[in-house]
Amino acid sequence: MGLIVQKFGGTSVANRDRIFNVARIVADTRNAGNDVVVVVSAQGDTTDDLIAKAAEITHDPSKREMDMLLATGEQISVSLLAMALDSVGVPAISLTGWQAGFQTDRTYTNARIKRIDSERIESELARNRVVVVAGFQGLNRMEDITTLGRGGSDTSAVAIAAALHADRCQIYTDVEGVYTADPRYIKKARKLPEITFDEMLELATLGAQVLNNRSVELAKKYGVELEVLSSLNPMPGTIVKEVTSEMEGMLIKGVAKDTNVAVISIMEVPDVPGMSFKVFGALARKKINVDIILQSTGRGDNKDLIFTVPKNDAEIAVAVLKENQVRFGGGEIYVDKDVAKVSVVGAGMQSHSGVASRMFEALYENNINIRMISTSEIKISVIIKLDEADRAMAAIHDEFIQ
Ligand code: ASP
Ligand code: MG
Repeated sequence: MGLIVQKFGGTSVANRDRIFNVARIVADTRNAGNDVVVVVSAQGDTTDDLIAKAAEITHDPSKREMDMLLATGEQISVSLLAMALDSVGVPAISLTGWQAGFQTDRTYTNARIKRIDSERIESELARNRVVVVAGFQGLNRMEDITTLGRGGSDTSAVAIAAALHADRCQIYTDVEGVYTADPRYIKKARKLPEITFDEMLELATLGAQVLNNRSVELAKKYGVELEVLSSLNPMPGTIVKEVTSEMEGMLIKGVAKDTNVAVISIMEVPDVPGMSFKVFGALARKKINVDIILQSTGRGDNKDLIFTVPKNDAEIAVAVLKENQVRFGGGEIYVDKDVAKVSVVGAGMQSHSGVASRMFEALYENNINIRMISTSEIKISVIIKLDEADRAMAAIHDEFIQ
């Protein structure tokens, strides 16, 4: 007996049969004596299709109008699911994000939730209804519709669970949980029984696609324990929480690949104070995210600056650098998009040495050259050639996960 938030992603509600499958899961949860709030995404590829429709009209749509458009996807799925629940005898009501009380900041297409006025949800629950809430959307102070960025329904679910102090927040998806690597590429990937918020956050940020990283951030902040599980294959999933039991003593929880990376090199930047500030300041003003930074030791009066940016920002980054080049000098600017970032993540590496050398040895044995390295307390990332990324993932996975 308790209050359970269940989130279903686009594949889980893609068609009639899937919607009734979800209705059954919700009905079972309710029949077990729980109050249930359901959060759903748009069906299947609806959001992509809507984006494509906008592109047929203009290449530069206003972000406000994009949100008006994209929010319709979730409205379709909440109403259909509420109808399905009703038809299997479960009293239900659908609510848009604004009816559910989602207040956001004003950043169209990538808004942040500021708070949830949950009275409406609570009063519907008190009337014994299952409440089906449209994920991914809210309202800003101007009473305009906003959306929370791609994959934002996870964040909606976590935010409701936090606001209502739910007993559990279940994220139902099309995979059976969080894996040590993407099982589509790594056949030996294993499902993890548990993972910490920090590990999950690193994996989500490094390219694992199972949870949206902002939802994990929010879950950590409010201590909302998550369960990631499959809507199609009923079995225990993965629990995401603050501290895991580490019974299995897994040093490494996951290996991830990110191909949205490009390496930019600026040669012969003067070796004097302020140059890095000028280079990265120019990029920051264009909101370009710089990840790994390498600086060569000075040769004579010069040094080289080498860093990574998202591949889809590489062209703008180079243009910005060329525009600002008078301010920091420097010679040739090169960009290499033929790269990938492969990372290992595990809280265990905080207390065990040798993880990096084992990773590098696995790459060496496979004759894979490392271009750049970066580390944090619980992750090690390397930049390598794009066409070697899958081989690198397999080798590293074999090394750490049996
Ligand atoms: N429908 C939105 C998207 O595809 C939100 C979500 O699925 O979480 O990004
Ligand atoms: Mg979606």
